Amino acid sequence: MKTILLLGSGELGKELAIALGRLGQKVVAVDRYDGAPAMAVTPYREVIDMLDGAELDRLVEKHQPDLVVPEIEAIRTERFYDYEAQGIGVVPSARAANFTMNRRAIRDLAAAELNLRTAPYRYASTYEEFAEATQELGLPVVIKPLMSSSGKGQSVVRTPDELQAAWDYAASGGRAGADDIIVEGFVNFHSEITLLTVTQKNGPTLFCPPIGHVQERGDYQESWQPCAISNEDLAEAQSMAAAVTESLGGAGIWGVEFFLTDQGVVFSELSPRPHDTGMVTLAGTQNLSEFELHARAILGLPIPSVDLLRAGASAVVLATGDGEPAFEGVEGALQSPGIDVRLFGKPTARPYRRMAVTLASAPAEEGAEDCRVRAKAAAAKIRVVTK
Ligand code: AMP
Repeated sequence: MKTILLLGSGELGKELAIALGRLGQKVVAVDRYDGAPAMAVTPYREVIDMLDGAELDRLVEKHQPDLVVPEIEAIRTERFYDYEAQGIGVVPSARAANFTMNRRAIRDLAAAELNLRTAPYRYASTYEEFAEATQELGLPVVIKPLMSSSGKGQSVVRTPDELQAAWDYAASGGRAGADDIIVEGFVNFHSEITLLTVTQKNGPTLFCPPIGHVQERGDYQESWQPCAISNEDLAEAQSMAAAVTESLGGAGIWGVEFFLTDQGVVFSELSPRPHDTGMVTLAGTQNLSEFELHARAILGLPIPSVDLLRAGASAVVLATGDGEPAFEGVEGALQSPGIDVRLFGKPTARPYRRMAVTLASAPAEEGAEDCRVRAKAAAAKIRVVTK
């Protein structure tokens, strides 16, 4: 049995903790607040500020983990190099965890070093640099803090009079170095996909069937698998995913995001861990869910193949108010055949916070279109009420 320090105990951490627990591992669930979702499925918990390096060091000293598994981005990942040097496994690797928390490191790697096709981009540290970059790229542009996730601080600028508000929003939305942003030319994509990619210690890199998704406010709303993609685009996406994951190094699952355009596949970004859009795999679309794949890969257990078993879709249930949440309408949602739900068990709600997902599946040959309709209809029946 290995001791696994799970840094981030949200809905993805919870499913990963379940998958690791089924394989007999000891999981210590860590988050910045008590009662986080993964803490409901393991008896070991710690509440710390994961951006505090000394606090991370304290937990590593206390638990002597075999593996440190980051499940979110807001972590003092610079400490990971030391842990790796001490012989502790960092998932998927210290370099990968450190690079992917900063949009700049990953963009430099993908665009400048590996020559992958990305949106045209500039970095800016001041409003003047931002305005100049916007001139060079031409409107519309997308502005994002270098260190942020879930769309925080991100917006689309379509007209010059929106510049100042977008800058102010980005400067308030980032985690560190508040004024550092990336500006990207707007990509006219016809669809967005996540290519779940599994790198193994002793085995070939595997690709899951591509997942389509729709984003709003920089956050995912629905996802489905498999999604329509040409053989050419899929081959290109797979080779880009292989290049970037190989360069970052280590074993585990990666959520590699691409825009599909009329001019080919455009690399967007990647997460070195299970991806939120990959929750669709909880609908039984694959022989192993993304969490089971990650668990096996990080433990060095064999993954002979990833097979599509069914078509599926997921749709999010968001909170609308602040406070202690309760769900209404779950019975109604579950009355439809082929529907399942995951209620995350988050102790507090706030507007737009993801509180649950609905899952729909169908025989693979029917495709995912009808699953999308059914998952969204089920999600619409569930309300998060707060008191
Ligand atoms: P990100 O946080 O970079 O994954 O961005 C979140 C979402 O914003 C993406 O999934 C897209 O829907 C949208 N988006 C981000 N960058 C661009 C871009 N350069 N052009 C068009 N849409 C974008």
